[in-house]
Amino acid sequence: NRKKVAFIHTVGVAYFFLATFGVVYSCIFIAYPVVYTEPKDIQWRSICLIYVFINIIGNYFLGILNKSNYTPGIQVTDPPTSWKFCSVCDRYCPPRTHHCEICKVCILKRDHHCFFFCQCVGLRNQRYFIPYTYVLMFYFLERTDPYK
Ligand SMILES: [Zn+2]
Ligand SMILES: [Zn+2]
Repeated sequence: NRKKVAFIHTVGVAYFFLATFGVVYSCIFIAYPVVYTEPKDIQWRSICLIYVFINIIGNYFLGILNKSNYTPGIQVTDPPTSWKFCSVCDRYCPPRTHHCEICKVCILKRDHHCFFFCQCVGLRNQRYFIPYTYVLMFYFLERTDPYK
């Protein structure tokens, strides 16, 4: 099962990099010179696309680097009543914390397990996940634009 998860994570990351680099490459080097005759149009379009591309890569790496794992520095012996007990981690966790079966750790404000980020999206990296998905959507729409 651990091997299966590692395989899916590898496929997710590989797909992400192939798709994002593939769109930049095919737009700038293949589609734009065919669709636009003015070199100014090609340059302007390319700059816009690279700006979006940098935003995707930046949010992607910040989302991976900021982990939402709950790792307490001190053991809480008398937690507030809103805290619940995680039987897997064998300790009390803050409200809105959920245990992830894949990460094998409790995640603060857990949203979902992301196979592109190779970890859970929660308190600290949701801020990067949301712009990441939105920018990615506009980015892939760009590909269809020249063929209208
Ligand atoms: Zn847990
Ligand atoms: Zn997870």
